This record gives sequence, C-alpha cells and structure tokens, in this order.
Amino acid sequence: MSVAPSRHALASTTIPLVATPSAGVPLLDVQRQYQTIRREIAQAIERVCDSGRFVLGPDCDQLEQSLARYCQVPHAIACASGSDALLLALMAHNIGPGDEVLMPSYTFFATASAAWRLGAKPVFVDIDPITFNIAPNLLEGLITAATKAIIPVHLYGQCAEMRSILAIARRHRIPVIEDAAQAVGAEYDGRRAGSWGTIGCLSFYPTKNLGGFGDGGLLTTTDAQLADKLRLLGTHGMRPRYFHHVVGINSRLDTLQAAVLNVKLPYLEGWTAGRQANAQRYTELFALCGMDRVVMLPRIAPLCRHVWNQYVIRVPDGRRDALRAYLAERNIGTEIYYPVPLHLQECFAKLGYTRGNLPESERAGGETLALPIFPELTAAEQQTVVREIAAFFHQSGRNS
Ligand SMILES: *Cc1c(COP(=O)(O)O)cnc(C)c1O
Repeated sequence: MSVAPSRHALASTTIPLVATPSAGVPLLDVQRQYQTIRREIAQAIERVCDSGRFVLGPDCDQLEQSLARYCQVPHAIACASGSDALLLALMAHNIGPGDEVLMPSYTFFATASAAWRLGAKPVFVDIDPITFNIAPNLLEGLITAATKAIIPVHLYGQCAEMRSILAIARRHRIPVIEDAAQAVGAEYDGRRAGSWGTIGCLSFYPTKNLGGFGDGGLLTTTDAQLADKLRLLGTHGMRPRYFHHVVGINSRLDTLQAAVLNVKLPYLEGWTAGRQANAQRYTELFALCGMDRVVMLPRIAPLCRHVWNQYVIRVPDGRRDALRAYLAERNIGTEIYYPVPLHLQECFAKLGYTRGNLPESERAGGETLALPIFPELTAAEQQTVVREIAAFFHQSGRNS
C-alpha cells in the first residue's frame, strides 16, 4: 500500500504548479519493507498454500505464542481485525445495553463502534493536549453506576497514563481494555502495551507497525478464564464443532496472515528502532531551522517507550490545511488523524454531544498533521519534508 499524495495534488487546482526539486515523499511505502523480506514471505505463503489449511492452524498458534511473549502476557488470541478484537473484548466483559464505556473521542472509529454495536453507550473523554491520549483526571467525574469498562487508546504508538487510569479503575472495580492497535511494542513504566489491562487489542492492518497483507487482529490477556472466553466468542461460541455455548461471532485469523506475520515479527524491533531514529531526526531537523517554535512537535511522555506508528505535529493558527495542500503540491504525503473527533460524528448524533463539549479533542482535530515516519524513510526524504514545511512558513510569512 503506497499512500501516494498525488490525488491531493490533482484535487487542489487553485494552487499553481511549480517545478519542485524533489520527487516527493510518500506518507507510507510498504513496498520498501516488503522488498527486504519478499523471499521469506513467498516461501511462507507457498507453504500455507501447499498445506491447504487456510484458517487458524499451527501458523496461528505460533503467532499467538510469539506475540504473547512479545507483549509480556501469558495468553494471546488471534482474530480477524483490531476492530473485532475490541468487540470481542467488550463481549467477554458482558458489555451490553444500558452499560457505559469510557473512551477518548480522539481515536479511530472502531474504539467506539465496538461499544455501540453491543448496545452500550460510548462516553467520550477529552484528551491531554501534549500526548493526545485520554486525560486520566477527567475519568473520575464521568464514572457512573453504569460504567462497565474504560478503553484507553495508546494513540500514535505511545501508551496512555496507565498507572493513573488503572488506579481509578481499580477503585471503582471497572475493567480496563487497552486499544493497542497503534502500539505493538510500546511500553509504559517498563511493561508492554497490552499487558496492563484485563485485555489488550492489537491490529495487523497494513499501516500498523506490525502490518499483515490484509486484515488481522489479536487479543492479549493475563487471565486464563478471559482467554478461554475470548477464544470461544471468536469462533461462534462453538466447542466442540456444532455445539454452541454462547452466541459468538466468526472472527478467525487467516492462516496466510499468520504466516506473513510470523515472518515479520522477528524484524519488528529493528523496524521500531528505525521509526524511533526517524522521529529523533525530525526533532533535530525541525530544531535546526527553528521550526520547532512554529509547529508543535510530538513529545515522548514520562515512563513511555514510544513506537511511533505516527509522527504527528500540531499546526496552530488555522494553517494546517494550507500546509497540507502545500505539501501535497510537492508530492509529500501527510494525513489527518483525525479530522472529526468521534463525539461530533454524524452516526453518534443521538448521544447528544455538541461542539465545545470536548475542547482539546476538537482543537486536535483542527491542528494535527501526520508526517511520513515509516522505518525505511531516508534522511534525505526527511530533510525534504522539513525543508518544505519551513518554506511554507517563510512564504506565507511574507504573504501575510
Ligand atoms: C487501526 C485501529 C483500530 C482497528 O483496527 P482494524 O484492524 O483496522 O480493525 C482500532 N483502534 C485504533 C486506535 C486503530 O488505530
């Protein structure tokens, strides 16, 4: 999946095209990573095809064992997507109609849809403006007798403040489900994402740090009983075949995905180191040209090991969209995660939120811009990104 910015360049016809010195920088180029492991991948895929076994199986068992070890938990259960992992986690905690689930509004849609689909009510919590993660100090005021779960999201690859969140949750005896879809390998206080809550949810969507060749997800837990329940719920509540204990769903991992992910997992630490080096280089490059005072750079929070699924800057003064268009003209890929926080989404209008309810989430929606950060990004490409951002502000500074 090469997320090329060219369609944005074509879309904004009002800006005159000028000759640019660079060939552009993609937001994400998964081909570069693939080229380094294509023989191993081909062999793994061929082995699965030869086996004739396409759902679950030994490749899947192997992935579960390696990822359990990687995430520092005794149990891991593969499923069909990160979205399903969230749904299954809430199902395992018997969340249903009348229940409330606390979660950030500034996250991907799947965090909230999982609760909504079970008839529960998402209760949106504002974020910390520095980390973009759920603000622990707001939780207590939103907990009611109906609150049945808290879902912190480890956004962009950095863990939420798990110690404070868990202290509040324990006091109220509310389970914490981690949305670790963007944070495989991230750590808080020396422990991995997915090992803190009752259940952790990972995604193998191709843009994630451990991306498959399609959809996939995984649940982590320290609780053997929950692990068993999650496994049952993800396979139609069936045990043995055609005997159904509970009404589950069909959410199994394809064997091909498991085989691909087994090839990729041993490289993950190296790729993470690449992302961390790129983040560090951006920070230095922005500081060199004084741009760190013009845009707000992402920061590593105390106790965190950041795995940089995204490198997200904040562009103040309503300049974000103009900067994005400027970069698109120069074939530099960027993305906005997320333009509309969930409490203002049309599909959740029934919940009754209005603009102003969650000011930090709304401000983030208007100011954030994700820059290319994938591990194979070159130093020269990063220089291009930073140079063009600086050029935008110099040019618009002259014009205004
Ligand atoms: C990607 C993502 C999901 C959903 O994962 P899928 O595998 O795409 O279903 C959930 N939450 C967050 C925060 C994500 O980034």
